[in-house]
Formats: sequence, structure tokens, C-alpha cells
Amino acid sequence: MQTIDNYNFSGKKAIVRVDFNVPLDANFEVTDDTRIVGALPTIKKILNDGGSAILMSHLGRPKEGPEEKYSLKHIIKPLANLLGQDVKFIDDCIGDKVLAAKAALKPGEVLVLENLRFYKAEDKDKEAMPGFAKKLAEGVDVYVNDAFGTAHRSHASTAVIAQFVKDKMAGYLLELEIKFLGDTLENPVKPFVAIVGGAKVSGKLEVLTSLIKKVDTILIGGGMAYTFLKAQGHEIGNSLVEDELLGTAKEILATAKAKGVKFMLPTDNLAADKFDNAADVQLVGVEIPQGRMALDIGPETLKAYAAEIAKAKTVLWNGPMGCFEMPNFAKGTFGVCQAVADSSAISIIGGGDSVAAVNQSGLADKMSHISTGGGASLEYIEGKVLPGIAAVRN
Ligand code: AMP
Repeated sequence: MQTIDNYNFSGKKAIVRVDFNVPLDANFEVTDDTRIVGALPTIKKILNDGGSAILMSHLGRPKEGPEEKYSLKHIIKPLANLLGQDVKFIDDCIGDKVLAAKAALKPGEVLVLENLRFYKAEDKDKEAMPGFAKKLAEGVDVYVNDAFGTAHRSHASTAVIAQFVKDKMAGYLLELEIKFLGDTLENPVKPFVAIVGGAKVSGKLEVLTSLIKKVDTILIGGGMAYTFLKAQGHEIGNSLVEDELLGTAKEILATAKAKGVKFMLPTDNLAADKFDNAADVQLVGVEIPQGRMALDIGPETLKAYAAEIAKAKTVLWNGPMGCFEMPNFAKGTFGVCQAVADSSAISIIGGGDSVAAVNQSGLADKMSHISTGGGASLEYIEGKVLPGIAAVRN
């Protein structure tokens, strides 16, 4: 398979879909350059080979054409500083002047195109998409996709463009996601423990259905736990519940049993009298008293989950164990975080709120892989083919 490592970019013009969707403050200063830093290895590989890099990205969600606050010109200075060289910018992403800028680009030079989503043909206008993608592909020799966060979308720059460029491949960031999420899910080192939490069963239904075929143990936390506990006949008080999914929850429990998957639910909980950090809290068992809502797993559950995590060789975690945004209900989530950090397992944090929790805990460097794409990582775990990956893998 064509990889970025075995491709020689010498004399080639590479168009790279990067993820420069970075946060900006009121003065248009980049407040978090993680994504720009993440794109550097791929850009440097192209330049070091003697190629030139044409970078394209979206930024924010512009509604009707160009908007100052969404211009990619704001990232030029930080990018130039990080690369230690000049970076050219052009205030459009297709058209004659862009073609001329591409043609004028010399080996070792970098050109950033203007925000792709200033054109509806990038993401919304399906009919115009192929024509727009073809224009993006004009004047380039090779297409590299390095934006995992948008890999679950079939947009002009993330997938459609690939049909107009002969040489195409994943960049280093995308490769890393494929290695950890893809390879681990296809071929996990056992025991494989999945930790699934978050608000609702409905949000993680496909994740659960997919994981149950692959894992040895599933640890459930967060609001979704109480739909399962209710399905088992327990009292859940005012805890979050999806009554319409009680049947589905029972089916999932039955499937786990039939497959010999250890499916663990909280055995103790922090039950609050209201949804508030300052609420009156009781530590209760599996039954939640009427009038109270469970907002975190209790210490006994945490201990049992940590013991499973300690035995694991692979851990995949998606979704918090409780309302961790409120400090009084964060112990379960941060406790799981610590357990994953302490384990010698390959640990993959699968996007979304668990990434936020890991970053807040200061334990991020103890994890094997923290996925950069929220929606994209969920879809990958669900077993879906991501258009952005399929496009560069033929
Ligand atoms: P998700 O986006 O599905 O991963 O859900 C994350 C959200 O679930 C977070 O904002 C948590 O505060 C919320 N959450 C976690 N546990 C509970 C719970 N026991 N009750 C209500 N909401 C919860």
C-alpha cells in the first residue's frame, strides 16, 4: 500500500487536507495550536523530500461565503513560526490565481489556501462537489489526507478530490489513527476491556453493538448505566433513562451473556437530590432512592472497574462515568482515568468527553493514543467505513 513513508515527494506538488480548525480569540490569535503542531510531521516530510506543500482546511462554520473571523490567514504566522520558514497564503482555494500560485511554488515552499468552506461545494452542495474537488486537484501531483476529524465526512477535500489525483495516501496523523483505532479493533491483544460511558444509550448504541463482538469485558458508566439497571428491574429514582430503549438494553445484556462478554454495571452510585454540584449527595448501592438521581459511580464500582482495567492488555475508553464537569461527580471518571494510566495495556481514548477528561487529569501522556476526532472516532469504533480513509486507500 502507498504510504507517506515510502513515497518520494521530490519535485512533486502535494495538496494536503490538514485540520487547521483551531480556536481563535477576539484578536484572531490562535489560542491552542495542537492541531497545527499535529500537521507538522506530514508537512516536513514533503518539504524534506524536496516537494512543495499546498495546505487546505476548513475553519469554523462559515454560513455565506468569506468571513474575516474564519479566514485561514490567521494561522499563517503561527504556522511559519512552528515550521521556521516563510509560508505563502492566497485568499481563495480555487480559480486562476490559485492555479498560478500553485505553479509558482518551488520545492521546499508552503502555500496555504483560504478556508474551503467559503464555498458550499466543499461540504453542503453535493451537486457542485465533484466540480469543486476537481478544481482543488488542478496543478497538483499528489493528494495527502491528514485530517482525521473530518474523515467521517464525504466532502470535496476529504474524499471526493481523491478521484482526480493519481497518487494519494494518508498523512502521518491519519495513519496513527488507523493504526490505533483500526488495527486494535481488528486485532486486539486480549484481554480487551472497553469502558463505555456518557449520557445516553442511544448515543452509543452502535458502539456497544460493535464492541460486544470484540471485547472480553465492557464497563458501563455515566447516564446510560441507569437504562441498563432499570432494564434489569432495579429502582433508578430520577436518574437519566431512555424508557424506549429498555428492550434494546435487555437485548444487549442477553447478547453479552450469550457471547461470554463480562458486562459490568455500577453496583454503587452517588445519588443527588438535584442536578447540581451543590446537591445533597448520598452514596447508595445499586438501587437509587426515589426522588434522587445517580450522577457518578461509587467507590466500590470504581474499585471493581480498576481491577478489570489492571488485567487488560487493550483498553478502549469512550464516555465519562458521571457528570465529571461538576467536581463533586468527577471521582468516577478521574478514577477510571488513573486506572487506565496505571495499566500497562495499550490504551486508546476514543474521542469526545473522555479526551477532555484525560486532558484535565494531566494523565494524557500516560495513554497510548488519544484520538483527535470526536465523531470520526465514534464512527470508526462503530465499524463504519470512513470516506476520508477509504478515498486514500482505494
Ligand atoms: P456523551 O456525549 O454521550 O459521551 O455524554 C457526555 C455527557 O454525559 C457529559 O456531559 C456528562 O455530564 C453526562 N453524564 C455522564 N453521566 C451522567 C449521569 N449519570 N447523568 C446525567 N448525565 C451524565
